[in-house]
Amino acid sequence: MKKAEAKTEEKKTLKSLDFDSVQKSRKISGKTKQELEVCNDEKCPFHGSLSLRGRTFYGYVVKKLPTRIKIEFERTLYIKKFERYMKKKTKIHAKLPACMKDKIQLGDYVKIVECRPLSKILHFVVTEKIRGKEETGK
Ligand SMILES: [Zn+2]
Repeated sequence: MKKAEAKTEEKKTLKSLDFDSVQKSRKISGKTKQELEVCNDEKCPFHGSLSLRGRTFYGYVVKKLPTRIKIEFERTLYIKKFERYMKKKTKIHAKLPACMKDKIQLGDYVKIVECRPLSKILHFVVTEKIRGKEETGK
Protein backbone atom coordinates (compact mmCIF):
# COMPACT_ATOMS: atom_id res chain seq x y z
CA MET A 1 0.00 0.00 0.00
CA LYS A 2 2.82 2.39 0.83
CA LYS A 3 4.33 1.91 -2.60
CA ALA A 4 1.07 2.76 -4.34
CA GLU A 5 0.79 5.94 -2.33
CA ALA A 6 4.30 6.99 -3.23
CA LYS A 7 3.58 6.41 -6.91
CA THR A 8 0.54 8.65 -6.94
CA GLU A 9 2.52 11.37 -5.22
CA GLU A 10 5.24 11.18 -7.84
CA LYS A 11 2.74 11.34 -10.65
CA LYS A 12 1.40 14.58 -9.29
CA THR A 13 4.83 16.15 -9.10
CA LEU A 14 5.68 15.08 -12.63
CA LYS A 15 2.47 16.50 -14.00
CA SER A 16 3.10 19.82 -12.34
CA LEU A 17 6.52 20.02 -13.98
CA ASP A 18 6.81 21.64 -17.36
CA PHE A 19 7.25 18.87 -19.92
CA ASP A 20 9.90 20.73 -21.91
CA SER A 21 12.08 21.21 -18.89
CA VAL A 22 11.81 17.51 -18.10
CA GLN A 23 12.89 16.63 -21.60
CA LYS A 24 15.77 19.07 -21.53
CA SER A 25 17.03 17.67 -18.27
CA ARG A 26 17.22 14.20 -19.82
CA LYS A 27 19.69 14.00 -22.65
CA ILE A 28 17.91 11.19 -24.48
CA SER A 29 15.64 12.51 -27.21
CA GLY A 30 12.54 10.88 -28.59
CA LYS A 31 11.61 9.15 -25.37
CA THR A 32 8.45 11.14 -24.77
CA LYS A 33 6.34 8.15 -23.73
CA GLN A 34 8.94 6.87 -21.32
CA GLU A 35 9.44 10.34 -19.89
CA LEU A 36 5.81 10.49 -18.88
CA GLU A 37 5.70 7.08 -17.26
CA VAL A 38 6.80 7.14 -13.67
CA CYS A 39 8.92 4.74 -11.69
CA ASN A 40 10.47 4.92 -8.26
CA ASP A 41 13.77 3.49 -9.46
CA GLU A 42 16.66 5.71 -8.46
CA LYS A 43 18.90 3.94 -10.98
CA CYS A 44 16.63 4.66 -13.93
CA PRO A 45 18.12 6.74 -16.77
CA PHE A 46 14.77 8.48 -17.37
CA HIS A 47 13.36 9.03 -13.88
CA GLY A 48 16.31 8.47 -11.58
CA SER A 49 19.72 10.08 -11.33
CA LEU A 50 21.62 7.56 -13.44
CA SER A 51 23.65 9.26 -16.17
CA LEU A 52 24.68 7.53 -19.36
CA ARG A 53 28.04 7.63 -21.07
CA GLY A 54 30.28 5.34 -23.05
CA ARG A 55 29.36 2.56 -25.41
CA THR A 56 26.06 1.41 -26.85
CA PHE A 57 25.15 -2.14 -27.83
CA TYR A 58 22.19 -3.91 -29.35
CA GLY A 59 21.35 -7.50 -28.59
CA TYR A 60 18.81 -10.20 -27.85
CA VAL A 61 17.60 -10.83 -24.32
CA VAL A 62 18.70 -14.31 -23.28
CA LYS A 63 17.93 -14.13 -19.58
CA LYS A 64 15.53 -12.05 -17.56
CA LEU A 65 15.82 -11.41 -13.85
CA PRO A 66 13.77 -9.03 -11.65
CA THR A 67 16.15 -6.09 -11.98
CA ARG A 68 18.52 -7.07 -14.74
CA ILE A 69 18.73 -8.84 -18.06
CA LYS A 70 21.46 -10.59 -19.98
CA ILE A 71 21.84 -9.75 -23.64
CA GLU A 72 23.75 -11.59 -26.33
CA PHE A 73 25.07 -10.47 -29.69
CA GLU A 74 27.42 -11.83 -32.30
CA ARG A 75 30.76 -10.40 -33.31
CA THR A 76 33.42 -11.56 -35.72
CA LEU A 77 36.99 -12.26 -34.77
CA TYR A 78 39.77 -12.48 -37.33
CA ILE A 79 42.05 -15.52 -37.09
CA LYS A 80 45.37 -14.68 -38.68
CA LYS A 81 46.58 -18.26 -39.07
CA PHE A 82 43.57 -19.34 -41.12
CA GLU A 83 42.93 -15.95 -42.71
CA ARG A 84 39.27 -16.32 -41.86
CA TYR A 85 36.71 -14.89 -39.51
CA MET A 86 35.18 -16.65 -36.58
CA LYS A 87 31.83 -15.88 -34.99
CA LYS A 88 31.85 -15.17 -31.30
CA LYS A 89 29.09 -14.30 -28.93
CA THR A 90 29.31 -11.58 -26.35
CA LYS A 91 27.07 -11.62 -23.31
CA ILE A 92 26.49 -8.52 -21.23
CA HIS A 93 24.41 -7.97 -18.14
CA ALA A 94 22.32 -4.82 -18.11
CA LYS A 95 20.15 -3.16 -15.53
CA LEU A 96 16.42 -3.29 -16.16
CA PRO A 97 14.74 -0.10 -14.88
CA ALA A 98 11.45 -0.60 -13.04
CA CYS A 99 9.48 1.27 -15.72
CA MET A 100 10.68 -1.11 -18.47
CA LYS A 101 10.18 -4.30 -16.50
CA ASP A 102 6.90 -5.26 -18.19
CA LYS A 103 7.89 -4.17 -21.68
CA ILE A 104 10.95 -6.34 -22.10
CA GLN A 105 10.61 -10.08 -22.46
CA LEU A 106 12.92 -12.93 -23.38
CA GLY A 107 14.02 -12.82 -27.01
CA ASP A 108 13.47 -9.11 -27.51
CA TYR A 109 16.00 -7.00 -29.37
CA VAL A 110 17.05 -4.16 -27.07
CA LYS A 111 19.45 -1.25 -26.86
CA ILE A 112 21.78 -0.90 -23.88
CA VAL A 113 23.96 2.06 -22.95
CA GLU A 114 26.95 2.11 -20.68
CA CYS A 115 26.64 3.80 -17.29
CA ARG A 116 28.62 3.90 -14.09
CA PRO A 117 29.34 0.50 -12.53
CA LEU A 118 26.22 -0.45 -10.59
CA SER A 119 27.68 -3.67 -9.25
CA LYS A 120 30.44 -6.15 -10.03
CA ILE A 121 28.86 -7.23 -13.30
CA LEU A 122 26.44 -4.39 -14.05
CA HIS A 123 27.68 -1.38 -15.99
CA PHE A 124 25.02 -1.13 -18.66
CA VAL A 125 21.39 -0.11 -18.57
CA VAL A 126 18.51 -0.93 -20.91
CA THR A 127 17.22 2.20 -22.62
CA GLU A 128 15.07 1.01 -25.48
CA LYS A 129 13.22 -1.93 -26.94
CA ILE A 130 13.91 -2.07 -30.67
CA ARG A 131 11.57 -4.91 -31.55
CA GLY A 132 9.76 -7.76 -29.90
CA LYS A 133 10.36 -11.46 -30.07
CA GLU A 134 7.72 -12.03 -32.77
CA GLU A 135 9.15 -9.39 -35.10
CA THR A 136 12.72 -10.67 -34.96
CA GLY A 137 11.92 -13.83 -36.87
CA LYS A 138 14.37 -15.72 -34.73
ZN1 LIG B 1 11.93 4.85 -14.97
